Amino acid sequence: ILPSLFGDTLPEAGPPTHVVPVLVPLPVAGAYSYAVPEGMHVAPGSVVQVPVGPRQVIGVVWDGTSDDGVSAKLDPKKLRPITLAFDCPPLSKEMRDFIDWVSAYTLSPPGLVARMAIRAPAALDPEPMVEGLRYVGGQPERLTPARSKVLDLIREQDVPWTRSGLANAAGVSLSVIDGLTQQGVFETIFLAPPPVVATPDPDFVAPRIEGPQKQAAEEIIASIRAGGFAASLIDGVTGSGKTEVYFEAIAETLRRGKQVLILLPEIALTSSFLERFEQRFGAKPGEWHSDLSPRIREKVWRGVVTGDVQVVAGARSALFLPFENLGLIIVDEEHDPAYKQEDRVFYNARDMAVVRARIGDFPIVLVSATPSVESQVNGLSGRYNTVHLPTRFGDAAMPDLHLIDMRRHPPERGGFLSPVLLRAIAKTIDRKEQALLFLNRRGYAPLTLCRVCGHRFQCPQCSSWLVEHRFKSQIQCHQCGYSERTPEACPECGTLDHLVACGPGVERIAEEVERHFPDARTIVMSSDLLGGVKRMRLELEAIANGEADIVIGTQLVAKGHNFPLMTLVGIVDSDLGLSNGDPRAAERTFQLLSQVTGRAGRTGLKSHGLLQTFQPQHPVMQAIISGDAGAFYEREIEERQKAILPPFGRLASLIVSADTRADAETHARGLRAAAPKVTGISVLGPAEAPLALVRGRHRFRLLVHGRRNSDMQGFLRAMIDNGPKQRGSVQIQLDIDPQSF
Ligand code: ADP
Ligand code: ZN
Repeated sequence: ILPSLFGDTLPEAGPPTHVVPVLVPLPVAGAYSYAVPEGMHVAPGSVVQVPVGPRQVIGVVWDGTSDDGVSAKLDPKKLRPITLAFDCPPLSKEMRDFIDWVSAYTLSPPGLVARMAIRAPAALDPEPMVEGLRYVGGQPERLTPARSKVLDLIREQDVPWTRSGLANAAGVSLSVIDGLTQQGVFETIFLAPPPVVATPDPDFVAPRIEGPQKQAAEEIIASIRAGGFAASLIDGVTGSGKTEVYFEAIAETLRRGKQVLILLPEIALTSSFLERFEQRFGAKPGEWHSDLSPRIREKVWRGVVTGDVQVVAGARSALFLPFENLGLIIVDEEHDPAYKQEDRVFYNARDMAVVRARIGDFPIVLVSATPSVESQVNGLSGRYNTVHLPTRFGDAAMPDLHLIDMRRHPPERGGFLSPVLLRAIAKTIDRKEQALLFLNRRGYAPLTLCRVCGHRFQCPQCSSWLVEHRFKSQIQCHQCGYSERTPEACPECGTLDHLVACGPGVERIAEEVERHFPDARTIVMSSDLLGGVKRMRLELEAIANGEADIVIGTQLVAKGHNFPLMTLVGIVDSDLGLSNGDPRAAERTFQLLSQVTGRAGRTGLKSHGLLQTFQPQHPVMQAIISGDAGAFYEREIEERQKAILPPFGRLASLIVSADTRADAETHARGLRAAAPKVTGISVLGPAEAPLALVRGRHRFRLLVHGRRNSDMQGFLRAMIDNGPKQRGSVQIQLDIDPQSF
């Protein structure tokens, strides 16, 4: 008899037969060895439960690579046995190779990488049946117009309906349906529950595509038909129809019976994407992100492993889903910093997606209106095939962009919005259109101080200022989440009501907007909204439905949304990201500003973008208003090349943290001293990390810079292996290709 899929089988506690290596989800260098009891069948990739000390953990049976075959030679009688083997498909060779690769590249323990790809199958309660209605026949005693509507519909489509489904489809109230049931026209039956993820149909509604879209789609489809690994980059302005083009690539892959993964930043907020997918393919994709119910999570995961779920749209963590038969990855908004995970395993999902496609030998499509410099360079060198969509689809024109020189058009005292911008807002809302004011700063003010003694409010456990959140009457640390009620008196000098807010956050801009436009409907969009993701989705829907006149938002509103009435985008502080000493600052600012201004005018209405700046001559500002992205990238690439910065050189950052400053510094100095002498690789620092204190831990940073072909991983490993022994509270965070440096 075949065992049921996903049941778990407890082995008979038979004598141990042989030994296998098992990766456990712990920060250890390799696999642990366990005995396999007689009667238990495991192979590389099997998901198992094993004891580690007094605990039981979920692990995965590995092959020789992580222990060089030593396990097989050990005496099974001397080792603890595997507790149980889960009855689910093992991780494929492809996934195991991918995990080994990511582990070697990021220098992260393989067990921690594997943990992202395995799950212990959870029990699924039987699905509740759904109550439905069946048409019995006959007529009700009294035939009202509403009742005729229902009867006409059900005679036309004589299938089982749900009560509310029938009411909606017929456009009548539930009481009409209930009346008919009482009169015996319908009988109640039980229906099988609908599937969590239905099957997408590649030919459900094929769009008419022509011109550059058609050419782009054909090129990508050709690379899919050719088979094997191929990387394409769709470089097209916001609203140019990039999504429509990669939908064609998805359709082609589905026709070939393979699964598709679509990576999106902020997937939890992009319900409109799921709907759009459904319109094209007749079914929604499976979703994968942190905001799913356990039941949906379990079902999507099972569908992915068995191949029943054909398309997944997910956040970066979806890259580690063990697909049964993956045949295409799409990385939308490939430049987005949200693809970088900076926790435990530090990786960039865009880069690792390319690796996964190469190992799986299937195509990948990167998509962006403002591709990363890395991807641009790969396009220029021919490693990626770039397709261009230079204009918006249909009648929609790009917004008209202007800089507001804040030195010449200063805001009134205590304000942050220039009169030019305020006039533009007034005109926009007069026309019953929407304005977006963008400021990438949560809260009311980034810094609060005492007017009398100059005391600044600082987090007790981090080296960062406390940010005032006036709506919540709190001051908060954005590093660790520490918060306290906004004090009435200065804790230093005791003066009452003398606190001053320095600089603006979105809440303060909202206050200014309300002062100028008391009758306008405003929405503040930031991750501080009470009610979390659900509330954010509702607010985004409200904006799309025209239920707001002025939206004040952080980058939450910048990404991928389609707001039909939005015709003005005002950037409160265009210079904000430019001065943080990060060599990617120009690129990031260019991308963010392009993306935010790209929210305007997507449906053909004439639209504007106004960018408040103190540096109108800055190359980023000039690139934005000239619309000449090409020239900007050219210059940016040249500078990176000169400075041997990525992708022309390689970088890594090591952050050493400890409970005391001395311990962190000593250890960092020890690592520096242990660095091998290698031509082409140099170490900078240690110096205090940009955030010198986080959650009470002191941090020092070493930067490692290498030429393009240098063996950074080998160098870093040597440094750590030859460096001082890691003792006490000392921890090292290793970040290959750090986002900021
Ligand atoms: P992008 O992904 O580049 O921002 P979209 O794919 O969202 O652009 O397209 C912008 C708008 O144009 C969307 O509303 C989309 O429905 C529409 N559109 C794009 N291509 C087509 C097409 N071939 N036929 C009909 N509508 C299209
Ligand atoms: Zn803090």
